[in-house]
Amino acid sequence: MNATDQHRPAFSFELFPPKTPEGSAKLKTVIAELAAVAPEFFSVTSGAGGSTRAGTFETVAWLRRQGLDTAPHLACIGSNPDEVRALLAGYGAQGIHRIVALRGDLPSGTGTGSAGAFRYANELVEFIRAEHAADFHIEVAAYPEYHPQAPNPARDLENFKRKVQAGADSAITQYFYNADAYFGFVDAARTLGVEIPIVPGIMPITNYTQLARFSDACGAEIPRWARRRLEGYGDDLESLRAFGHEVVLRLCRNLLDGGAPGLHFYTMNQSGPTLRLWADLGLST
Ligand code: FAD
Repeated sequence: MNATDQHRPAFSFELFPPKTPEGSAKLKTVIAELAAVAPEFFSVTSGAGGSTRAGTFETVAWLRRQGLDTAPHLACIGSNPDEVRALLAGYGAQGIHRIVALRGDLPSGTGTGSAGAFRYANELVEFIRAEHAADFHIEVAAYPEYHPQAPNPARDLENFKRKVQAGADSAITQYFYNADAYFGFVDAARTLGVEIPIVPGIMPITNYTQLARFSDACGAEIPRWARRRLEGYGDDLESLRAFGHEVVLRLCRNLLDGGAPGLHFYTMNQSGPTLRLWADLGLST
């Protein structure tokens, strides 16, 4: 990185491991289309308790074979140190130097006794640092609208700071549609002495029902005015997507204009919505 690159925003794309051979074939095309705009890295999600671990491993291995920088997610809940150690060794052997370190969620109804050796993400960050010193750049999750299980925002911020004190290098946020939530969170983190980059997570809007269900589960708010408009489109997907694109485009512009250090796109294994935002943000030039 040269001096002029230091403050250039960094862009990254998130994928999930495909579940079928058709999904796998489609993902390769999607990756080729996304790779053409040269993101900083591709991250690949991983289910808690190791549920999609093999798929995550295969997907990042394939990305590496294409010469692309990747960041596997590692959701520690339900895992033991030996499993995590083996996984980190496998990633290190592939030349991977970035990990998204997460707690993950146990399926509802699972007792806390199944949590395993790692109860919270800060314990995973500490473990990675203890075992691998500075071998990995560690990303952690941040929640501008606060984590749904946090008793209050102040405690959630303190817990976010624990991950940074344990050795996190940067953070990626849960998605949100209100730029003020992000700027307020960053200000509060800075007040606590947290200096790491906090990159906004961006969820393109392409399907209202799915987005509403997902947002309710993860505590991301779709503002009432946007919800009403999206509901109003019904089956008219073309209008819904055009409106969703404008909402997210404006959000990205506000975030970058306000000093966000980059954007992390939740691509949902589709290239079109992310690349449309990319083009209209003028990022190709
Ligand atoms: P933590 O930072 O451990 O926080 C979880 C909760 O516990 C919060 O309420 C926090 O306030 C509290 N807390 C934290 N530390 C402590 C402590 N020491 N003592 C007491 N309370 C504490 N999930 C997956 O399963 N797979 C993925 O690939 C995945 N990728 C994600 C990527 C991003 C960018 C984001 C934002 C989320 C992702 N998630 C993923 C979802 C995430 O796993 C869930 O939101 C999960 O509930 C919390 O994970 P965390 O790492 O933020 O947990």
